[in-house]
Amino acid sequence: MTKCSPLTVEEQVARRKEYMHRYNQTYKEERRENDTQYHRRYRATHREKCAKRERKWRKAHSEVNACSSAKRRALLVGAEGSFTSKEFKLKCIAYENKCVYCGLVLPLTADHAIPLSRGGSDNIDNIVPACSLCNSRKGTKTYDEFVSQSAVA
Ligand SMILES: [Zn+2]
Repeated sequence: MTKCSPLTVEEQVARRKEYMHRYNQTYKEERRENDTQYHRRYRATHREKCAKRERKWRKAHSEVNACSSAKRRALLVGAEGSFTSKEFKLKCIAYENKCVYCGLVLPLTADHAIPLSRGGSDNIDNIVPACSLCNSRKGTKTYDEFVSQSAVA
């Protein structure tokens, strides 16, 4: 009787890795399709639960919303530049998550210090965090115009 030579740990790891690689290659497409169908079915049968989870996620990640809505407006007017939700989050942290105009801690939106309608860019250096009320009150004024007007009022 011949005795099998035992594999070293490294050989076992390499063999396992190779097996998993082949397995993943073989079933990747099938699994992706199954996952897609599963999630589609799940969302269809748990509509309310999914909507609630999405609202919760959006509330916790308001920077994503702020970023995509600013991006949409920038695209409309053909403004140059762009910023990521991560950059906006860092900007908010730099402003202690407060509205740059009223100082309240509210869900923040991305306000263009120089409005897009007046040639401002969509780059992060033109973005300040503002609550939606201040953002809409500011309208097409620049940061300086809005701040000096608020000081007079
Ligand atoms: Zn505000």
